[in-house]
Amino acid sequence: MSLWKSWLEKKKVLIADGGWGTELQKRGLPPGEPPEAWNISHPEEVGAVALSYAEEGAEIILTNTFGGSPFKLAKVHLEGKVAEINRRGAEISKRGAGDRALVFASMGPSGEFMAPLGTVSEEDMMKGFVEQASALAEGGADGIVVETMMDLAEAKAALLAARQSTSLPVAVTMTFNKGPKGFATMMGIRPEQAAAELEKSGADIVGANCGAGIDQMIDLMKRMRSATVLPLWCKPNAGLPELIDGKTVYRESPEMMASKLKALVQAGANIVGGCCGTTPVHIRAFVRERNILTG
Ligand SMILES: [Zn+2]
Repeated sequence: MSLWKSWLEKKKVLIADGGWGTELQKRGLPPGEPPEAWNISHPEEVGAVALSYAEEGAEIILTNTFGGSPFKLAKVHLEGKVAEINRRGAEISKRGAGDRALVFASMGPSGEFMAPLGTVSEEDMMKGFVEQASALAEGGADGIVVETMMDLAEAKAALLAARQSTSLPVAVTMTFNKGPKGFATMMGIRPEQAAAELEKSGADIVGANCGAGIDQMIDLMKRMRSATVLPLWCKPNAGLPELIDGKTVYRESPEMMASKLKALVQAGANIVGGCCGTTPVHIRAFVRERNILTG
């Protein structure tokens, strides 16, 4: 049995880490600088984020490689560093995690549209994600999490790329917003559809991240659970971002979010972490609540 499955069986609910971007900013990452560049220039700061989550008891730690696809890195003139940035990102998180936590390496959207809407062919999209996924595997990642996806075709391309170039388990989570007609990604994909199609395409874990605070995430998990038997992974934001005095503020407190963990698990979630605005204190509260729930 793969490691993540035996850990899930033993713990019943796994807690993953929280936000990375906000934590790196606290450690001095200037706005506008690509966080992934820090895997080379500031490895100690990146490692400190991984360590802070592992120390609070998260069983799954991500990597600072969300924007590490060749498409994204080309936009910040780092296209020659794809292999190094991703390999180092995985190595840094592995060091921080030690044997306390598994490392699922993050792959975010390419920022490009696939044909026919855009100009990138499926083949090129896959080639880009293959480059990223192989470097993450080389760095020692225990799994891959394709996240914040809006387009099902791109999500599938990333999943397939990770499958073809590594032997790692692959999770895929998409970002849904609630509109007048219910939940959908920016490209109009509904949660039930995402869960069913990603399961059919061979994902090990599916889910939702970002775009929603914890109450909406409970709804989202119910919808995805109705369409798949796979383990569900969710990463709620600490609420929706609000702009106050020119600063982005997330209002959901660790206590408030942890108090809803039970409802989230009852709705079908198996792995719970946090997205934008969540901190090591949020993760500590989740771990404590999970330990009470699973006794
Ligand atoms: Zn987020």
